[in-house]
Amino acid sequence: MKNSFKVEHRLGYRIFGRILAIALICGVIISTVQVILDAGRVSKDLDSQAGQTISMVRDAATQAVFSIDSELAQQVVDGLFAMDAVHIAAITHPDGEVLGARNRPLQQTPFRPMTDPIFDADRTYRVPLVRDDTADTVYGYLEVHYDTVPAARTWLDRATVTFASGIATALILGLVLYFVFHLLLTRPLLRIVHSVKAVDPEYPDDRLVTLPAGHERDELGLWVNATNNLLVAIADTQKRHRDAEDRVSRLSRYDQLTGLPSRDTFMDQLARDIQETETRKGVLSLMVCGIDDFKSVNEQCGFRSGDLILQTVADRLTGQLGSSRFTIARLGSDQFVIVEKGLKDGFQAADTAERVLACVGRPMMVEDQHVAMTATIGVALFPSDANKADRLLQSAEQTMTLAKQSGNDHFQFYVASIDQEIRDRRQLERDLSQALANKEFHLVYQPQISLESRRVIGAEALIRWEHPTRGLVPPDDFIPVAEANGTIVEIGQWVLEQACWQAARWADQGSPLRIAVNLSAVQIRQASIVTDILDTLHRHDIPAGRLELEVTETSFMTNLSDAVAKLHRLNKAGINIAVDDFGTGYSSLTYLKQMPVQHLKIDKQFIRDLLVNEDDTRIANTIIDLGKSLNLSVVAEGVETAEQEYYLTQRGCKLAQGYFFSKPLLPSDFERFVETFHEQLVENNV
Ligand code: C2E
Ligand code: CA
Ligand code: CA
Repeated sequence: MKNSFKVEHRLGYRIFGRILAIALICGVIISTVQVILDAGRVSKDLDSQAGQTISMVRDAATQAVFSIDSELAQQVVDGLFAMDAVHIAAITHPDGEVLGARNRPLQQTPFRPMTDPIFDADRTYRVPLVRDDTADTVYGYLEVHYDTVPAARTWLDRATVTFASGIATALILGLVLYFVFHLLLTRPLLRIVHSVKAVDPEYPDDRLVTLPAGHERDELGLWVNATNNLLVAIADTQKRHRDAEDRVSRLSRYDQLTGLPSRDTFMDQLARDIQETETRKGVLSLMVCGIDDFKSVNEQCGFRSGDLILQTVADRLTGQLGSSRFTIARLGSDQFVIVEKGLKDGFQAADTAERVLACVGRPMMVEDQHVAMTATIGVALFPSDANKADRLLQSAEQTMTLAKQSGNDHFQFYVASIDQEIRDRRQLERDLSQALANKEFHLVYQPQISLESRRVIGAEALIRWEHPTRGLVPPDDFIPVAEANGTIVEIGQWVLEQACWQAARWADQGSPLRIAVNLSAVQIRQASIVTDILDTLHRHDIPAGRLELEVTETSFMTNLSDAVAKLHRLNKAGINIAVDDFGTGYSSLTYLKQMPVQHLKIDKQFIRDLLVNEDDTRIANTIIDLGKSLNLSVVAEGVETAEQEYYLTQRGCKLAQGYFFSKPLLPSDFERFVETFHEQLVENNV
C-alpha cells in the first residue's frame, strides 16, 4: 500500500460526500414539501381574507346601490383601496352600469413569473349585493380584484427560510455523521493500516497489529485479533522452515561424525585463506593426512571402532592445532586436511606434519583395545605448488597417494615432477588398455640352463611392449600399472596363450622345452584361473609338465588358503610351480612348507653381488641349502659372469639363467641359440 493515497479515495471523504448528498436531497425534499403545503395555506388565507374584507364592506355597498348613492359607492371602493393587495374594485348595477370604481396597476416584482403560476396574477371576487329582507332581489354587484403579490412575497420569504434551514440542518447532520464515522471507523482503520505496515515480513510476530483503544469487542477488534493469530501462525511456520533450513545447512557444512567442517565449507575457507596469504605475501601449507590401512581396521574391528578412531584423530588434531592459524576439515572416509597459514617457508610445514604424525601415532583405546594407527601426509604449498584452492588440494591429495605407495607413517612434499609422473601414468594406463587390441605385445624367451648337464632345459617367457611412440616400454614400468587396474588378467592370459603356442611349435620341431610363465598375484586371485590355465594347455595339446608358473611370495599373502588351494590343483594337474624373487620377500618357511613348490628362484640382486658382498653371498648360500633340505631345485637368476656360474655350480645350484648365457631372445634367435649352445658343448666334450 502506498503512503500517498489520494484524498478522493479515502473512505472518510467518500462517506462524507455520500452523507452530504443524501442529507441535502432529504433537506430539499422536506423543504419542498413544506413550501408546497405553505403555498396551499397562503392560497386559502388569500381567499378567506378577501371574504372577510368583502363581508365588511358588503352592507355599505348594498346601501350604495340601493340608494344609488355613487358617492357612498366611491367611498366604499376607496376604503377597499386602503388595502395594498386590492388591485381593482367596482360596484355595479345589475345591468353593468358602474356606480363606483377604482383600479391601480398590478405590482411589478421580479418574482412574479414564479409566483403567478402558483397563485395567479390576481384573484377576482364578485358578490351579488342583496338585502336581508328581500334576499332574492339583486341590487348590484361588488367586484374586487386582489393582487397576489403581497401574499406571494411573504410566502416566498418563508420558503427561503425553510430551504435555508433545511439545507443547514442537512449540512450539520452530514458533518456530525462524518465525524462519528471518522472517529468510529476511518481513524481506527488508518491506525490499524499503519500498524499492519509496521509488521516485519521476516518476523511477523515481532510487532503484532495494535488495536486502537475502545474497539476490543467490535468488528475491528475481531479483525485485528484474527490478523494477529494469522501472523503468529505464519511466524511459527517460518520459524519451523528456518530451523529445518538451518539443520540442513549444518548437516551439509559440517561432518556429522567429527564435527569438523565438510569439504564444501572447507573449500570456501581455503579460498579466503589463500586470498589473505596472497595479500600478505606469505606462505600457506595444505596437508592431506590419510590414516594408513584404515579400511582393514574397519573390516577387522568393525565400523564402530573405525568411527571412534576417526573421532579420536579429529579431537587430537583440533586439540593439538587449536590456534587460528590452522583450519582442519574432514575430506573423505579416512582423510583429514590441515591448512596452516602465516608460514615463512615450507620447512615450517614439515614441523607441523611431524606433529600431526605424532598426534595420530599415539596409541588409543578403542572399545577396550589398544590401537596404534599411523598416517601418511602429502603437503602442497601456496604459492609455489599451486595458486588455486582446488589445484592446491589436488596436489596434496596426489602427493599423499604417491607417498602411500612408498610406505606408511611419513610425509612427503609435492614436487612438480610428481604431478608429471601422475599424468604419465594416466597416459600409460590409457595406452595399455589399447595395447592388446593393437597387437603391441610380443614375447621373448630367456634360456634356462642346467648347470650339471650344461644343456638348455627350458625358457622363461618375458613380455615386451613395443609402444607406437615411446618405443620399448620395460615390463617393470607397465606390469605394476596393469596389476593396479586389472588389465594384467587379459594380458597374462595372452602371454600364457602365446607361450603355449610357442612351446607346441618347438615340440613339433623336435625340441620339447619347458616354458616358465610369470603369474601375477592379481591373476591368482581370479576365480577361474585354474580352469583358464588348464584349458589353455589342453587347447595347445601340451603336457602339463612342460609348463612352469612363476609366482612371488607376495602373491599368496593376501589370501593364503585360496592361493594354496589353487596352486595345489594346478600342481596336481602336473604343472610346476616356482617361487620367483625368492629372498626379497618374507621368505617364510611356514608359507613355503604349505606350498606345492618345485623351484626356488634366487633373485638376481643376490647373484649380482655374489662374492662381492658378504650378506648377499650368505643369502644365496642359505637359499641353495634351503632348496636342498626341502628337496627343491634352485634356479639362479641374473647370472652375468663365469665366476658367478662357477661358484653356483660348486655350491650345488642346479639351474641358472642370465646374460652370461643369453639375454631374453626372440623365438628364431632362441632356436639358433639352443643349436649353437649345444654344438659348443659337443665341441668342448670332443
Ligand atoms: P622377473 O620375473 O624376475 O624376470 C627376470 C628379469 O630379469 C627379466 O627382466 C630379465 O630380462 C632380467 N634378467 C635376466 N637375466 C639377467 C641378467 O643376467 N642380468 C640382469 N640385470 N637382468 C637379467 P624383464 O624382462 O625386464 O622383466 C621384469 C619383470 O617383469 C619380471 O621379473 C617379471 O616380474 C615381470 N614380467 C615380465 N614378463 C611378464 C609376464 O609375462 N607376466 C608377468 N606377470 N610379469 C612379467
Ligand atoms: Ca620370473
Ligand atoms: Ca626375479
